[in-house]
Amino acid sequence: MKTHYTKPSITDLEVQYVTDAAANGWGDRCYEYIEMFESKLRGAFDAQYAIATSSCTGALQMGLHALGLGRGDEVIMADTNWVATAAPVLHLGATPVLVDIEPDSWCIDPEAVVESLTPNTKAIVATHLYGNVADMERLQSIAVEAGVSLIEDAAEAIGSYWRERHVGGLGTFGVFSFHGSKTITTGEGGALVTDDPELHCTVLQLSNHGRSQSQMLDFIPDRIGYKYKISNVQAALGCAQFERFEELVQRKRTIFETYRSLLSDLPVYWNVERPSCQNGYWLPTIVPMRQAKFDRKGFINECRQQDIDVRPFFRPLSSMGAVRKKAVCRPNCQSEFAGEFGVNLPSYFDMTEQQQVSVSSTLKKFFA
Ligand SMILES: *Cc1c(COP(=O)(O)O)cnc(C)c1O
Repeated sequence: MKTHYTKPSITDLEVQYVTDAAANGWGDRCYEYIEMFESKLRGAFDAQYAIATSSCTGALQMGLHALGLGRGDEVIMADTNWVATAAPVLHLGATPVLVDIEPDSWCIDPEAVVESLTPNTKAIVATHLYGNVADMERLQSIAVEAGVSLIEDAAEAIGSYWRERHVGGLGTFGVFSFHGSKTITTGEGGALVTDDPELHCTVLQLSNHGRSQSQMLDFIPDRIGYKYKISNVQAALGCAQFERFEELVQRKRTIFETYRSLLSDLPVYWNVERPSCQNGYWLPTIVPMRQAKFDRKGFINECRQQDIDVRPFFRPLSSMGAVRKKAVCRPNCQSEFAGEFGVNLPSYFDMTEQQQVSVSSTLKKFFA
């Protein structure tokens, strides 16, 4: 039996909603599931406004566009990131400034942010990596003091909370992904959440070919926008998944705790749960301690033989030629180390304890 890296949990509820949307969600009912989905997003993510989009990447690009980001502007983000966090900045002609991560949370290091602020800095992007919550307290005060926007890439942080508030709703705006690999899925899909009515209005307009709300019936754009809306059928899938929010997040947490107890004696760092935070544990991840001897290549090869899908930790963006030549790259020794030795372990709703035991015993063999 194959052990997947991630895989959605689809029950009769999802099938029922999607079937209804496909059969009946047209004409007068063509936005019904989208509206329901957006209301669930506002509730779950503690935000005044939510816009469902076709992807997280698109949501991020529209949010940055709405802030007026352009040529000459700098956006500080962690070097350890998925390329989707940097690409929208580059599409808008601005410059990503790639800084190091904290060794324990693997999220952007606030002190590295301070060292990288310039008069051109327009925004800081905090990515809550693998469910770990970035140091929002410090980042908020840095952003306020510097007069720049604080943006949360919460694609990997469904079910992660900072002081009882869901992440994503803490800064200027936040974005989420509902890609098939994420904790909650719509197949492809994303969202932007914010408490700022003006930003909400601009992104809404951008997401619908630049047409303002009052012009919906005419084919006249007020500006050149995007077409990054979600479909009603995808939103129906999302509605069913959100009704199972607690169950889906809880399962991720249980899987994480099981690995942790099976592997309690390994000399590694695990995803952290900071004081007064909750971690949604999107991907249970290990980074060996500096003195540990871990043969990552051997482990990944052995997993392939056993039909277990494990993934290497994100490589620093600065190690990719296509990004590096358009970015400012700052010292990144923690990003380098985690990228060279870290591993994401499989975690999905239907995986069995036996599968977790066999991943764990394989992993142990590759620590000397
Ligand atoms: C998955 C992911 C994205 C992109 O999400 P899409 O919905 O595929 O666009 C962006 N940022 C991070 C950190 C991610 O993990």
